[in-house]
Amino acid sequence: MTDASPAERLAAVHAAIAGAAKLARRSPEDVTLIAVSKTHGPEAIEPLLGAGQRVFGENRVQEAAAKWPVLRDRFADVELHLVGRLQSNKAEEAVALFDFIQSVDRPSLVAAIASAMDKTGRRPGCFVQVNIGDEPQKGGCSVAELPALLEQCRGAGLPLKGLMCIPPAEIEPAPYFALLSKLADRHGLAGLSMGMSADYEAAVTIGATHVRVGTALFGVRA
Ligand SMILES: *Cc1c(COP(=O)(O)O)cnc(C)c1O
Repeated sequence: MTDASPAERLAAVHAAIAGAAKLARRSPEDVTLIAVSKTHGPEAIEPLLGAGQRVFGENRVQEAAAKWPVLRDRFADVELHLVGRLQSNKAEEAVALFDFIQSVDRPSLVAAIASAMDKTGRRPGCFVQVNIGDEPQKGGCSVAELPALLEQCRGAGLPLKGLMCIPPAEIEPAPYFALLSKLADRHGLAGLSMGMSADYEAAVTIGATHVRVGTALFGVRA
């Protein structure tokens, strides 16, 4: 798809989501496509906005703060998701800028987000990120820590929407997606953010409500 236009890439991803949803007897409307625009400038983002895409993901607060306020002046209905690791000292800026925070993963961050919400009056939806493959280098709480962290989120009044994961690279992701789905069920959470460019179709067949797609929409990052 390297020669395809952004609009064609977007249509192809939507078609793939629809195909996977059909296979699983799901409605494609139950899957939100998050266009992960990290590292890409406005010149790459604007064609997707022009093609109707409104939900975007970024992994760094600073980068998003530099790019999105200007774009939002023209596209007020944009929905922004933070999908990267969040430092507690940036919680207030993140709460002010993002509509969803998908990387809630530790008690100190829950406390920082809760106090940022009190201070700003903004209440972005929150996903708890689970380190589903128990990989030391990855963010996310462990499966064992999840119940206590969810309890803390609920106690602190965070608007909990669901769970997010990034499964281990280079191996079959389906068992990890299935585990995340089971955990969300067990804890009464409807949102399942899973699936990236390489595996979003599999994720949709296993119940993803949000897929986070960068490369398949924007091309390979520099
Ligand atoms: C970069 C990123 C994505 C998108 O990855 P692609 O493979 O480019 O689709 C999705 N989720 C997170 C958390 C990311 O950091």
